[in-house]
Parts: sequence; C-alpha cells; structure tokens
Amino acid sequence: MAEVLVLVELNPSGTGVRKTTLEALTAARALGEVSAVVVGAPGTAAGVHDALAEYGAAKVYVAESEEMDAYLVAPKAEVLAQLVGQVSPAAVVIPSSSEGKEVAGRLAIKTGSGFLTDVTEIAADGTATQVAFAGGTVVHSQVTVGTPIYTLRGNSVAPEPSPAAAAEEPVSIALSEQAKQTRVLDRVVETKSSRPELTEAAIVVSGGRGVASAENFSVIEGLADSLGAAVGASRAAVDSGFYPHTFQVGQTGKTVSPQLYIAVGISGAIQHRAGMQTSKTIVAVNKDAEAPIFELADFGVVGDLNTVVPAATQQIAAR
Ligand code: FAD
Repeated sequence: MAEVLVLVELNPSGTGVRKTTLEALTAARALGEVSAVVVGAPGTAAGVHDALAEYGAAKVYVAESEEMDAYLVAPKAEVLAQLVGQVSPAAVVIPSSSEGKEVAGRLAIKTGSGFLTDVTEIAADGTATQVAFAGGTVVHSQVTVGTPIYTLRGNSVAPEPSPAAAAEEPVSIALSEQAKQTRVLDRVVETKSSRPELTEAAIVVSGGRGVASAENFSVIEGLADSLGAAVGASRAAVDSGFYPHTFQVGQTGKTVSPQLYIAVGISGAIQHRAGMQTSKTIVAVNKDAEAPIFELADFGVVGDLNTVVPAATQQIAAR
C-alpha cells in the first residue's frame, strides 16, 4: 500500500497535536498508509505518539534535536524533502496554517512537485477539491508533476480515529546552511484563553467596524462565550484597533470553516469572505438590509447589533 506523509503540527505550547493534524491524518488515509512526520525539540514525539497512533499513523518519522527546534520552517521542509527522496510517498498532506503553506511551497520547490493549497477534500485518486470566489466556484484539481503535496484547510474533514501501530523511526539529517538563515530567538507563549482556537472552533462570532469600539467588542465576546465560540474580527475592526490582528478573518487574516459563523456589523467584502466562505452555516447581523453579507448568509437579522446581540446572548444563556 502506498505511503502518505503527514506533517504533524503541534499546539502553540509545543505539547499535544493540533486538531488540524488529526484532520490531515484522517484525510490522508484516503490515499494510502499514513506516516506521520514529527519535527521538533527532543521529546516532542513522545508527547504526541498516542494521538498519532489513535488517528491512523502506521509509522512516525521522528526528526528531533535542539537544532530542529531552533530554526523556522526550513527544517520541516528539509526533513520532508529527504523523506520524499527516501520513501517515494504517494503524497504529502500538511495542515493549511500559514506555516504549513510555507512548508508546502518550499517542499514543492525542493522536490520539483506540484502543490495544492487550502484543499477541502482529497479523493482516493488524488483529486483535490478547492473552493474559490466566495464559495461560488468549486475546483477539482490533480497534481501532475512529482509527489502531490496538499495543504488541508482546517475544519474541512471531521477527525476520525483509526488505531494503528505508530512505529517510530528516527530520521537523521544534517540541516543545510540555508535552513539556518533565520533563527528563532524567542517564543512568546500565547495568552491563555478559555475560548477555542479560531481556526479550529466549531462556532465563530466575528465583529466588524459596526461594533464601533474596542470596549464594545464585549458584546461579541458575550455572544461567543454563551455559545462556546471563538471570536473573530474583520480587518476594518482590526485596523481601527478594536481587536488584535491575530483574530482577523479573511484574505490577509485567518481562514476559518466552522459549523456556524456569525458575522456581526460586517459588510461582507470579498476579502473577508475569502476567510469564512466555506463555513457550514452563516448568520449575519447588520443594520443595513442591503449589506452584501446577506447574499452569503443562510440566516440574517436586520437590526442594530447593540440590541440584537445582547438579546440573543441572554436567550442562549437562559437555555
Ligand atoms: P465595513 O465595510 O465598514 O462594514 C461595517 C458594517 O457594519 C456595515 O455593513 C454596516 O451596515 C454595519 N453596521 C454599522 N453599525 C452597525 C450596527 N450598530 N449594527 C449592525 N450593523 C452595523 N477585510 C477582512 O475582513 N479581512 C481581510 O483579511 C482583509 N484583507 C484585505 C486585503 C486587501 C488586499 C484589501 C484591499 C482589503 C482587505 N480587507 C480585509 C478589507 C475589506 O476590503 C473591507 O474593507 C473590510 O472587510 C470591511 O470590514 P467591515 O465589514 O467590518 O467594515
């Protein structure tokens, strides 16, 4: 059976795998026998072995050293490129984070392969599905050169366990001088939040310029907390200083694909849609009945967010 490599993405704390990795392991199983690839500091694989085994990794390639951890994305691309040369996998699947996409691009160059980003599905014959133009266009593509490399959009595939052996195999590789051009000096630990991570959340509540101030984002947070949701923001809200950039959804922010996306005080510009158009159900709250977001929304409320959202929060909290 063909071997398929899956790059393991760790939680920001460095412990445990991200849900996006479990999704990638699940999607990759359609293409062959899955081998997970762990790149990081010594001891990284030990912390994630059980999760990888539970989600179908028959083998775990382990490239661990202080050096692997000391540089940015280049070590991951070099480890994967070496493995592609060694084991000639049927494909490589990488979570579609900003780091994942950079690794995929570098790997494609190193191996002379084609790559497809932000795919939402991978069929057994390697055909990938991508969604474009505000969800209006679905594209099916295949890589025709080299080893197919895919980045899988978060929340596109439901992670399903499929216990496997997860036999570990060390990878020994000397990093090139090129890989050492950008060294990590420090990692700022993310502020602890009780809310789910934006790209992994089942529900996202996002606020736009209509929220009107940083203080008023508490209205958005209140609704998010009543639903166990993550908070997002439009670029206008971020640029106005209402909410930090790390929560921006859209073309120049994060891509989300939750079960439910609630857009509050957001007009629905194409660049915002680019980051949320594949959400399963979209609800919009906007005081302008002509706002473009209503073209995309499954449900819409025309009204002042300062009235509608607190009332909804109260109703949900009372249940
Ligand atoms: P607006 O377009 O100003 O809309 C605010 C909405 O709030 C209006 O529809 C209004 O009716 C409504 N409103 C106002 N008050 C209330 C109220 N009290 N109650 C209810 N509704 C109210 N944008 C992104 O979001 N993400 C990106 O990643 C992104 N990348 C970009 C990249 C490029 C290269 C460019 C050129 C632009 C990008 N943009 C991005 C910006 C994008 O074009 C829009 O300007 C932005 O999305 C608008 O944000 P908004 O909907 O919050 O604001």
